[in-house]
Amino acid sequence: MDLFEYQARDLFEKHGVPVLAGEVIETPEAAREIATRFGGRAVVKAQVKVGGRGKAGGVKLASDPEDAVAKSAAILGMDIKGHTVHKVMLAATADIKDEYYVSFLLDRTNRTFLAMASVEGGVEIEVVAEENPDALAKIPVDANEGCTPEKAREIVAAAKFPAEVADQVADVLVSLWKVFIAEDALLVEVNPLIKSGDGKIIALDGKVSLDENAEFRQPGHEALEDKAAANPLEAAAKAKGLNYVKLDGEVGIIGNGAGLVMSTLDVVAYAGEAHGNVKPANFLDIGGGASAEVMANGLEIILGDPDVKSVFVNVFGGITACDAVANGIVQALELLKAKGDEVTKPLVVRLDGNNAELGRKILTDANHPLVEQVDTMDGAAERAAELANAK
Ligand code: GDP
Ligand code: MN
Repeated sequence: MDLFEYQARDLFEKHGVPVLAGEVIETPEAAREIATRFGGRAVVKAQVKVGGRGKAGGVKLASDPEDAVAKSAAILGMDIKGHTVHKVMLAATADIKDEYYVSFLLDRTNRTFLAMASVEGGVEIEVVAEENPDALAKIPVDANEGCTPEKAREIVAAAKFPAEVADQVADVLVSLWKVFIAEDALLVEVNPLIKSGDGKIIALDGKVSLDENAEFRQPGHEALEDKAAANPLEAAAKAKGLNYVKLDGEVGIIGNGAGLVMSTLDVVAYAGEAHGNVKPANFLDIGGGASAEVMANGLEIILGDPDVKSVFVNVFGGITACDAVANGIVQALELLKAKGDEVTKPLVVRLDGNNAELGRKILTDANHPLVEQVDTMDGAAERAAELANAK
C-alpha cells in the first residue's frame, strides 16, 4: 500500500527523521490559518500517489495566507497524471541549498534490502539512474544487521555526500531505517533530502510503501488506507475476509485455492474467445473451508458486480469435500433469497475430487432453475462463457 506524502511525513516524524511542519487540508479556506501559523509563507503540495507533482504544477509556494488560500484552491481538484487532487498539504517553507536522495527498499531480485543514495536529488531518481548511474550509490543492507551507524557511514561515503553534512545524513539514514523496519515498509524514500541555508538536513518529500502482508501486526495501518479510492466491491470483499480482485470481464469466478482460480481465469479467457470475447470478471478464492456462509459472501460480492453475466463455480474437493461445498451452494442461494438478493444470473458449477458424486447429487436434487452442472473444467468454462455472451 502506497501512502500519501503527508502520511509518510507523519511516519518520518514518529521515528525521528527530521521533517518540517506540515498539515493536510481539503478546503482552500483552511489554508489561511495554517499559513499564518507558519509565519505567512507556505508551500502548497498536492497529495496524490504519483511522482513528479512539482513539474505538473502540484507544488506551489504561497507568499502570504491569502495566497495560500488561492494556491490551495487552484491545486485542489486539479488532475495530475490521472489522479484528482482531493487534499493538499501545507508545509513550512525551506531555504534549499542542496537537494539529495536517500531510500531503503526490498530488493527482491537479490533477496536483500537495498540502500540507495545520491547527492543529485530533487529530480526523478530513475532519470539519475539512467543518465548518470555513477551518481546513484546502491548498497545492500543485511536484514539481520540492519542499517547500523557503520552501515550508514558506508552509504554516505559511497554516495559522496559532502563532509559537512555526512554525520547528519548518516543519522537520518539510521532513523529512516527505523521507519522501514518498525512500519514493515517495502520502500521508504526521501526526495529531496535537503540541506537548508543554516546547514540542516531535512526530509522535504517522502514516499512510503507498506507491506500489506504485515497488516496483522500493524493495527495502526488500517487508518492509512485511502478508503475513498478503493474499489467498493474489493473493499466489501476485504471486510468479509475474502480474497477478491475485480477484473473487467463478464464471467464471475469462484474457486477454492489460488492456483485453481488462476487456471480457471485462463480457461475462461480461452473459452471466451469463441463467445464474443467474454472474459473473467474477477478473481475469488474462497479457500479451503467453503462453508455456506463463505459461499454466500462470495456469491453476493460477485453478483453485486453489474458487469457479471454468468458465474462459474469451480471446486476441486480436497479436505473440504464436494458434498459440503454443494450444501454450501444450496444454502447460499437460500440465504441470498432470504435477504432479498435472489440470484438472477446463471451459475455453472463444476465439482470434482473428494465426494464429487455426492456433491453433484445434492445440486441435482436441489434443482435450482439457474444452476447448471458440467463435469469438466473446460466444459464448464465453455458453458459459462456461452451464457455470459447470450445475456
Ligand atoms: P515531487 O515533484 O512530487 O517529487 O514533489 P516535491 O515535494 O519533491 O517538490 C518538488 C520540488 O519543489 C522540490 O524538489 C523542491 O525543489 C521544491 N520545493 C518543495 N518544497 C519546497 C520549499 O519548502 N521551499 C522551496 N524553496 N522549494 C520547495
Ligand atoms: Mn519529490
